[in-house]
Amino acid sequence: MSQTPRLRARAEIDLAALRANVRALRARAPRAALMAVVKSDAYGHGMVPCARAALEAGATWLGTATPHEALALRAAGIQGRVMCWLWTPGDPWREGIEADLDMSVSGLWALREVTAAAREAGRPARIQLKADTGLGRNGCLPADWPELVAAALAAEAAGTVKVTGLWSHLACADEPGHPSIAAQLDVFRELVAYAEKAGIEPEVRHIANSPATLTIPEAHFDLVRTGIAMYGISPSPELGTPADFGLRPVMTLAASVALVKQVPAGHGVSYGHQYVTADETTLGLIPLGYADGVPRHASGRGPVLVGGAWRRVAGRVAMDQFVVDLGRERVEEGAEALLFGPGDRGEPTAEDWAEAADTIAYEIVTRIGTRVPRVYLNEDNEDNEFSDGRGAAR
Ligand SMILES: *Cc1c(COP(=O)(O)O)cnc(C)c1O
Repeated sequence: MSQTPRLRARAEIDLAALRANVRALRARAPRAALMAVVKSDAYGHGMVPCARAALEAGATWLGTATPHEALALRAAGIQGRVMCWLWTPGDPWREGIEADLDMSVSGLWALREVTAAAREAGRPARIQLKADTGLGRNGCLPADWPELVAAALAAEAAGTVKVTGLWSHLACADEPGHPSIAAQLDVFRELVAYAEKAGIEPEVRHIANSPATLTIPEAHFDLVRTGIAMYGISPSPELGTPADFGLRPVMTLAASVALVKQVPAGHGVSYGHQYVTADETTLGLIPLGYADGVPRHASGRGPVLVGGAWRRVAGRVAMDQFVVDLGRERVEEGAEALLFGPGDRGEPTAEDWAEAADTIAYEIVTRIGTRVPRVYLNEDNEDNEFSDGRGAAR
């Protein structure tokens, strides 16, 4: 990792770690296919390189939220199954059909739009019917399921759609034993049985996200949809650490110290002077701010490894920069500051930042801004042939 170019700031993305995480997750759900969820620019890690790495490690599906994300995968030349699930009226159904996407349908409005697009395209759309088994977000309620299933069967008969999947999403998969888990699985089984009895022949039935993949085997069905765990982050610190699940964080956020200076006691630091130096001390300027995704809410709290020790953000995080109090430590401009990473060099983790900002690690990595270049490490898939019995893809 030491050969990376010196940059103001960078997010190093370790694709070997991502591939190893995909293999670890496949081993957790050996009878299910794995969908690599790469929405929101692969949770900030970079969609196309992460999608390619996940496929190399044995993922057979890719998943995105919006159709635009899925179409961007195709535009990058990525083949294979790609599913997207967050549609709004007027979205590009026809482009989705022509790009061979698997498109989620949660209600009759979506079925109407997709069948109209299929007639225009002159070929059937691949759709997956989504049930709301209790999350209360997207998906078709059980009461409306028979109507949606009947309409989908009619569209299949008319040749405008092929239903490739039946699926749902869990509300509390990261809270083992939560009563909603068993309740949702029961409803899911019932709704799947109803649709199959009515004549739907899905290729895949799926409901598991990362926490369910890691801890709820009965939720695996035919396919698991893993996002956060693939990026080496535990879905929840209460479930365990990444290492407990054989996962390794993929992103390291680093910056070069931009300025070092001595200041006297009583010197205010950053907007609002929320921090005032207690003694004569050394301040270090870190050129990352809330525009780069460093949460302003972690002002005074966020941890950074610089000069061999953890420092806390001194005062407020500004748009482009923040300050750390280095005490008596002698640090040079250009020294490396590590905000988070896997932790093996003593640096904090994304989870530490989540704690400092009262949020979840998902939000920490996903919000790293576009001004921070992603630097890809271990792009060559050399590990696969040694650790994957199926052999390398190249
Ligand atoms: C984001 C998302 C996932 C992945 O969730 P993780 O907890 O990151 O694994 C799975 N399914 C759906 C529908 C999602 O929106």
